[in-house]
Amino acid sequence: MSPETLIRDDGLGTGAEQFSIDRFNANVMNTYGRFPIALEKGSGCKVWDTEGKEYLDFVAGIATCTLGHAHPKLIEAVTEQIQKLHHVSNLYYIPEQGELAAWLTEHSAGDRVFFCNSGAEANEGAIKLARKYAHDRLNIEDPVIITAHASFHGRTLATITATGQPKYQKGFSPLVPGFVYTPYNDLPALENAIAEVDQNGRRVAAILLEALQGEGGVRPGDVAYFQKIRQICDEKGILLILDEVQVGMGRTGRWWGYENLGIEPDIFTSAKGLGGGIPIGALMCKSFCDVFEPGNHASTFGGNPFACGVALAVCQTLERENILSNVQQRGEQLRNSLQAIASEYPDLIAEVRGWGLINGMELKSDVELTSIDLVNAAIAQGVLLVPAGPKVVRFVPPLIVTEAEVNQACQAVARALHNR
Ligand SMILES: *Cc1c(COP(=O)(O)O)cnc(C)c1O
Repeated sequence: MSPETLIRDDGLGTGAEQFSIDRFNANVMNTYGRFPIALEKGSGCKVWDTEGKEYLDFVAGIATCTLGHAHPKLIEAVTEQIQKLHHVSNLYYIPEQGELAAWLTEHSAGDRVFFCNSGAEANEGAIKLARKYAHDRLNIEDPVIITAHASFHGRTLATITATGQPKYQKGFSPLVPGFVYTPYNDLPALENAIAEVDQNGRRVAAILLEALQGEGGVRPGDVAYFQKIRQICDEKGILLILDEVQVGMGRTGRWWGYENLGIEPDIFTSAKGLGGGIPIGALMCKSFCDVFEPGNHASTFGGNPFACGVALAVCQTLERENILSNVQQRGEQLRNSLQAIASEYPDLIAEVRGWGLINGMELKSDVELTSIDLVNAAIAQGVLLVPAGPKVVRFVPPLIVTEAEVNQACQAVARALHNR
């Protein structure tokens, strides 16, 4: 389908009259700060709102729609699987689940997979697995998990506790015990945190980090820092858990974020890009720490034929169409273009950084302009972007984005900055 055929030809449409923000707000809980547009159609890297206005989508459902919108392979997989079998139960063997698990173990450091429905649920599972390993194998009564300041791991109680940002925890106490926080990319601070736990007569069971902090401001992990952590974990028998929910599944130009750091985790999680926009999460681990037994952990929807069949098609499409090489090339193009824009506004823009197609443009802390202001200005210019904290604007387009689309987005950002 060409984008043109997606725009209603009656010039009026049905959604424009029917969609009402007031009606929406009267019925939906007020948990999100929403930009004032309603999206109803998409094709490739473009989406259209209920008024028929076109946008270049550099949000992709927050680093999720890796194949963009209405991709033929996605449509085909969804259609085939829904006609065949969509949901049964983990009371039975599910062939699609087995095939997706095999694809994942063949393309990662993991040996075993547990499927769930979201990033938070995958991280919740990782926390449970690490605690069970500590109890069963290491006899640790009261295991501690170290996480980083400015991290983001999800919105369940355990994952907001793991998230090292007080704003996500405020109002939800009592939080889950057993977490200690340390500044990201700061080795001496991490070593101190481990020593302090030891001094208190407790033991660190796991260190949970993002290879690149996404929500926390698009901050890539430091190679030397992560390599030293891997060494410390090996020496002390600490599990290294990496949250790959945002950076995994090809987003960085490699399958996994940790490949950019030259290390392998013991446990890692995936979700956002895994199903290309179909809800699915995965918890993966090396066989030595695969300590779950029947009855320990479960999910009704987790690993169902629909989600797994579609996610497998997404994975195979990324691989067969060599999309990782597009991610590398378009990522470099995007960073270079944003860098050129940044050098035109040295008083406004502090830095451009990222890996592959997850990139951030950081605004100077002393200027009034916020990330939300810039996102609003970009929307006015026809490009969707997403904040990553108060001063960083994130660029996470579909992995199939073209050279022309990257150019178009950067020109729009330049206009947005010019007209701000
Ligand atoms: C989005 C995100 C999560 C949470 O995923 P949900 O699917 O929203 O539960 C966890 N960790 C990271 C790094 C994320 O980016």
